[in-house]
Amino acid sequence: MSYCCLVREDKASLEIEKEIKNRIKLSYNDMDPEIVIAIGGDGTIIKASHLYPNAIIFGIHTGHLGFYANYSVDELDLLIDDINNKNYCIEKLKLLSCEIEDSLGNVIKENALNEITVVTPPRTLTLDVKIDGEFLERFRGTGLCISTPSGSTAYNKSLGGAVIDSLLDVFQLTEMAGINSTSYRTLSSPLVLSKDRKVELDAVIDSEVYITVDHLNYLIKGFKAIRIHYDNKYINMAYHNHENYLKRIKRTFLISEK
Ligand code: NAP
Ligand code: MN
Repeated sequence: MSYCCLVREDKASLEIEKEIKNRIKLSYNDMDPEIVIAIGGDGTIIKASHLYPNAIIFGIHTGHLGFYANYSVDELDLLIDDINNKNYCIEKLKLLSCEIEDSLGNVIKENALNEITVVTPPRTLTLDVKIDGEFLERFRGTGLCISTPSGSTAYNKSLGGAVIDSLLDVFQLTEMAGINSTSYRTLSSPLVLSKDRKVELDAVIDSEVYITVDHLNYLIKGFKAIRIHYDNKYINMAYHNHENYLKRIKRTFLISEK
């Protein structure tokens, strides 16, 4: 087997990388590795999921314990033993797929581990929301966020979306500052949709929007539409033991580590 490290550029993370490279008994390959060790935070794990979508991802958190954290700095020996002895379990995390289309017919395809957002921060954005081809509402406001269960604790949570059990096969649509008046009417509450649904957001007038896909962002001039659905794509996240989901929520949001 082969592996590589993806490292956040801070002193603690770089030191851990050195130690890992001295002790892991696999060949190093950063082109097409079978295992990626992301050293840093959730952001580093998200980057690893985009750079190496087919690899088994191990995450070691050098800052606070993040949501995707599977090994802490104190568990470095455990991580190295688990990799050397092939002693780990894998959780498959669903990826949302999207197709972004502009008025010239150009199409960008992307996959998101956390979420996809469509935003125009300085102005209001108008989008027609369609679900399985049926018109739901005309949204007017700052933007919309569509998140996976594992991403529900990220941007979605800041927007008042629900935290979703990662075992549920669903995705969630949340509003960013939707305008509600006698002229504009939207659902306003987060909408949780089953895995087989397809969401389409259509531009109402020719507009320039930002589309974020996890940590990535695209400025789309002449935005026409974005189509979002599940496409049976997954990221393989490695854990020493299948971690109890509630423990992860408590550790990330409720119980201070001090
Ligand atoms: P960032 O701005 O450095 O990180 C945003 C924060 O979200 C970090 O504290 C990160 O943890 C945490 N995070 C990421 N995924 C998470 C998850 N699934 N559950 C709980 N917390 C999570 O950007 P980044 O590190 O490149 O991460 C990109 C993500 O930032 C996006 O996918 C989006 O979810 C999030 N974001 C949030 C807001 C907001 O809440 N207002 C705005 C923009 C983007 P680490 O510190 O461990 O990396
Ligand atoms: Mn980050």
